[in-house]
Amino acid sequence: MRNKSSQKRLFTNAQRLIPGGVTSPVRYFTPNPFFVKKANGSTIWDTDNHKYIDFCNGYGALFLGHRPKEIIRAVKSQLSCGTMYCTPTPQETTLVELINSCFPSMKKVRLVNTGSEATMTAIRLARAFTKRNKIIKFEGCYHGAHESVLVKAGSGLAHRGISVSEGGLEAVSKNTLVVQYNNFEQLEKTVLKNSDDIAAVIMEPILANMGLILPEKNFIKKIRALTRKHGILLIFDEAVTGFRVSVGGAQKFFGVSPDITTLAKALGGGFAIAAVGGRANIMNLLSPAGGVYQASTFAGNPVAVSAAISSVGAIKKIQNTVYAKLERYCAHLSRAIDDIATDYNISHQINFTSSMLQIFFTNKPVVDYATSKAADTKKFHKMFGVLLDQGIFIAPSQYETIFLSNAHSTSDLNKTISAYDTALRAVKN
Ligand code: PMP
Repeated sequence: MRNKSSQKRLFTNAQRLIPGGVTSPVRYFTPNPFFVKKANGSTIWDTDNHKYIDFCNGYGALFLGHRPKEIIRAVKSQLSCGTMYCTPTPQETTLVELINSCFPSMKKVRLVNTGSEATMTAIRLARAFTKRNKIIKFEGCYHGAHESVLVKAGSGLAHRGISVSEGGLEAVSKNTLVVQYNNFEQLEKTVLKNSDDIAAVIMEPILANMGLILPEKNFIKKIRALTRKHGILLIFDEAVTGFRVSVGGAQKFFGVSPDITTLAKALGGGFAIAAVGGRANIMNLLSPAGGVYQASTFAGNPVAVSAAISSVGAIKKIQNTVYAKLERYCAHLSRAIDDIATDYNISHQINFTSSMLQIFFTNKPVVDYATSKAADTKKFHKMFGVLLDQGIFIAPSQYETIFLSNAHSTSDLNKTISAYDTALRAVKN
């Protein structure tokens, strides 16, 4: 049994000093989040030693699970050589070579710390390269916590019902045009109306921040053709999909090459590292080679770089088996949840691909922001609570995605399916 009063006490104590009691808003849920002591493989333990099978998985970062032995070994070895130099290391070049071997479109790469920094830099580069002002983003896509992209975003903003963040400058957000995901006609119209001033289209090739939403057939290919025709740069934000849907991310999965790519999450396998890369003539605009300024004290941090080299190396080594296995596991789990919800006669949709899935309590297919928003979030929250009580931790919001990792076992899946049975029975009642 979870010790709910002990967890509540820790939260009350945190709230005294930390706004909202959490260090990132998506971690909050009612009545209170649980506090973690440790994690290993597919399991996470709270401070009362209660165990959960983890499907939040660092919001997708832990593709190999918690504490993969290769990464821990690499990091330990780096720790004995120092934690920070702020001058180049050969390992940075090794990592970029590895990234380039997986993502050939990333001809030149700058290492940063977070997905937000990566997309901020990508957009600044696109504006400088095209000498245009506006960008287009899709409703529900989340690209980090900076002004240009905090407009009609998914994830925590959708959860909290925030359309444009308070404190943001209208002068910035008015240059972000927002289009429905999976609505190519609306995109085309927006481009035709503003084409001489659109620097970039930025997108999650698979939308993982509104629950999970898949692109309709040829949506991505048509966007590539349209942007190319109008001299607009295409930015793939592969913070989630990079290394997750294939070793070469969504661009390999769909066979579409963007101009700029951002990577985060699975790149570091649990450490804070991200990357922005693309065509050499664009990336060479970055200072000191060019006049686009981007900098960070912690960029290329040797501990994070060692983790990333090891993470990408490990994923490359098992690429011939891991994607097929996770696809099989994900389809099995999704179909089992689908069957249970059908048996209980609950209106629902399941979207899944690769190692990601989400259930929505609605009778209409979920293909964009509006159809995701139409799902019953009270039912979702009820399901979430019952799952948690049974030791299954999924991200605490309808507008997030369930992530499988290479550490999940068939026994984890069986326990999870049985927990969904209980949770969906509770939703029905
Ligand atoms: N892009 C996408 C697609 C994301 O899912 C996220 C984080 N959830 C980000 C960017 C921002 O990354 P970070 O939180 O590391 O800044």
